[in-house]
Amino acid sequence: MNKLQMVDLKGQYEKIKEEVDNSIMDVVNSTAYINGPTVKSFQTDLENYLNVKHVIPCANGTDALQIAMMGLGLKPGDEVITVDFTFAATVEVIALLNLTPVLIDVDEKTYNIDIEALKKAITPKTKAIVPVHLFGHVSQMDEIMEIAKAHNLYVIEDNAQAIGANYTFKDGRQQKAGTIGDVGATSFFPSKNLGCYGDGGAIFTNNDELAHTIRGIVNHGMYERYHHDVVGVNSRLDSIQASVLGVKLKYLDTYNAARQNAARQYNEALKVSEHIITPSTETHKKCDNSEGICDTCDCHVFHQYTLRITNGKRDELANHLKELGIPFGIYYPIPLHLQKAYKDERYNEGDFTVTNQLVKEVISLPMHTELDKDQIEYITAEVLKIVG
Ligand SMILES: *Cc1c(COP(=O)(O)O)cnc(C)c1O
Repeated sequence: MNKLQMVDLKGQYEKIKEEVDNSIMDVVNSTAYINGPTVKSFQTDLENYLNVKHVIPCANGTDALQIAMMGLGLKPGDEVITVDFTFAATVEVIALLNLTPVLIDVDEKTYNIDIEALKKAITPKTKAIVPVHLFGHVSQMDEIMEIAKAHNLYVIEDNAQAIGANYTFKDGRQQKAGTIGDVGATSFFPSKNLGCYGDGGAIFTNNDELAHTIRGIVNHGMYERYHHDVVGVNSRLDSIQASVLGVKLKYLDTYNAARQNAARQYNEALKVSEHIITPSTETHKKCDNSEGICDTCDCHVFHQYTLRITNGKRDELANHLKELGIPFGIYYPIPLHLQKAYKDERYNEGDFTVTNQLVKEVISLPMHTELDKDQIEYITAEVLKIVG
């Protein structure tokens, strides 16, 4: 059996080595290391792939979120609603810009923003909603867009974990995750579904004016050389990273399909246990599939494959996997509302029943493009030995 890894970047690289190496060396030889033609061509390829008018590459996913918020002109005191159960970057940038983060609970099936909690959290100060498509699963965008419209709020999609996922609206229309709200942000961190070999990120929007504003912000607030109209930042995707991404984008659908296939095998093996809740894709009617993985659309691209262990044996399982050298992750062990940096007396524990429960029950198993059947059989057998 091949060595088990949480993410097998080496195995993935070996299969496209020649293409990637050539692409990187082209940049090295061109000396166009910053804002070169490689960045521009990746940008265009990604716009076409996502069917979005504007992709603005930047330095990482955290910057992408921050710049999206700057571009929308959010001001100190504006309330921005996001989820309690996500990677800290989402709330960090809200706080950094002196906006007021409003953390809310997630849905117990999807682990994404809870629609009822969202409705309750809106106040006259609310300006934006940041749904996070957690673990690769698109949030309930029909409902979110409807609520945003009714209350005149911006929607900023944190799409760091769901690039390539499709969302099927109730009327049957499909759109790529990250291109549905006013603006989307993604990360090309190496282990993400579309990862480069360092840091990278991008912002997506269909709004021409916002795209123009953001293109200035990423470049020191310059719209004309050495004229600084707004306070900007320096956030660039470098050409070498773009050269890797240009190659890998061609394989993104294949990569996501491999992840879905692995998830399907995991689910199949683990459904025998009544103490395990496998990932659900019940975002909307088309995904209402009790087996968990929907075959009619791609609303979950499995950035992580995350289980809930409901009989209190999560930590015992974690120890067992550790002893055997089977990699796993606990995403995330502490809800954001309990983190020192983001505590706020306005929060009531009773408003976070789902996240408070999830942090005790979740465990993520190896998930990547190179997982094979033997590995999944071995891992799931060991999981079942402990959880029963
Ligand atoms: C990875 C990630 C980010 C940040 O991306 P970086 O490129 O690491 O800055 C933001 N939000 C979520 C949900 C992420 O998973």
